[in-house]
Amino acid sequence: MSISPQPILALDVQSLAAARDLVARLDGRADFFKVGLQLFTSEGPTVVGWLRALGKRVFLDLKMHDIPNTVLQAADRAAGMGVQLLTVHGLGGERMIEAAVAGAGSAMGVLVVTVLTSLDETELAASLGRPPVSAREEVLRLASIARSAGAHGVVCGGAECAAVAQAGASALRVLVPGIRLAGSVADDQRRTTSAAEARQAGASYVVIGRAVTGTENPAAAWDEITRQLAG
Ligand code: C5P
Repeated sequence: MSISPQPILALDVQSLAAARDLVARLDGRADFFKVGLQLFTSEGPTVVGWLRALGKRVFLDLKMHDIPNTVLQAADRAAGMGVQLLTVHGLGGERMIEAAVAGAGSAMGVLVVTVLTSLDETELAASLGRPPVSAREEVLRLASIARSAGAHGVVCGGAECAAVAQAGASALRVLVPGIRLAGSVADDQRRTTSAAEARQAGASYVVIGRAVTGTENPAAAWDEITRQLAG
């Protein structure tokens, strides 16, 4: 029996005012929000403080990739803001992930981004400069490094989520982005997943963006996705 993944709404908007509007349109339904590069670059820690004051949990998706000391200091600052989950790139290496975990302390989980769900295998091979690369193999390789470094979990596509669990890496939580309702457009994503598939694959968290925020009625889309997550 699978456990329902926790839904996280991506506040992929430009301003605090737009974020307030989106949160209001969800009318108390969501309690975990993603603040990513777009909103954090515009509003900075103010947006995190605002969400924490509302009693919401925050996933700070900054996908850090820098030298270990810089990432340690930044993770320490994120934890100090009251963030629950922070992302770093797996390609930053084991020492960098360990530094993020050290900076995070015990109150914040570090999630390691494996292969972006916007990349297909041809683009992945081109980025890595290697001949045909299987996204699944690359995710499993980076998940193994994430586990050795003491990360809370990994970010990967729904198709690889089950593989991470089957490889015995179940010590790692899995966050799956790129969630779509049946029939909705994929946008720039290449490896999308339905809410039901993410649940069956054993995801602990799903990030929901345009499948909710891009619709006329975000509350109705949220309700449908959370119904599918519950099984
Ligand atoms: O709108 P959509 O559902 O495609 O948004 C997906 C969200 O998940 C975005 O906020 C994106 O930054 C994030 N994400 C992703 N792929 C990853 C990690 C995070 O799409 N590997």
